[in-house]
Amino acid sequence: MKPQLILLGAPGSGKGTQAAKLVSELGYNHVSTGDLLRTEIAKKTDLGKRIAGIIEQGKLVDDTTVLELLQSNCNLQKGAYIFDGYPRNKDQAKALDDVVLKGTKSVAIYLEVDLDLLMARITNRRTCSNKACGEIFNLLTKVPKKQGICDKCGAEIIQRKDDNEETVNNRFGVFKSTIGDILEYYKGKGVLHTIDASINPDVTFAAVRKALGV
Ligand code: AMP
Repeated sequence: MKPQLILLGAPGSGKGTQAAKLVSELGYNHVSTGDLLRTEIAKKTDLGKRIAGIIEQGKLVDDTTVLELLQSNCNLQKGAYIFDGYPRNKDQAKALDDVVLKGTKSVAIYLEVDLDLLMARITNRRTCSNKACGEIFNLLTKVPKKQGICDKCGAEIIQRKDDNEETVNNRFGVFKSTIGDILEYYKGKGVLHTIDASINPDVTFAAVRKALGV
């Protein structure tokens, strides 16, 4: 049985890229609270309207809202999940254990990357606008063959609204002030693996598989 995977890392550390490989190669289910929140904004739901400004500023959405959204979008009966973007603080880590995982075998993996490297990575990040595809590109390292068009499905490639320098600086600030507590929480449980994610996605993926024991 594959363990549930709590995927931790700074914005741009490669969580989305690793998650996509885990889904296609190992059959994981993927839930990203950032994606769920962005979908609410795109659909202009009441929730979406309430949180759009918060996300644009790079701040965190309140714990209750995110937990509700997470709960209604994951079902552990379906098998192993990757939790991407959740938890963002110690209370969320506890809630994940108490309300969602409830003792299911899980592993936390921290993708460690120097924050100075990440600013360039994030501001050059582009994503396929087709939600069902969601391929991730980078204008420095993974350039689409045709400018502005997804190689995989042909849809338009867009930049996330919160991937600009000012918002990214805020997101880094939030990350730096919260990650220590989260790592301590999982270290205390004896389930934390820290992986150097600065080399390339394939090297990182091999290390992720090893940590998962699959
Ligand atoms: P991400 O795609 O994980 O980088 O998340 C994008 C933005 O969504 C964050 O900067 C937060 O504003 C919000 N967000 C995502 N996940 C959470 C969470 N677990 N708790 C609070 N806010 C979140």
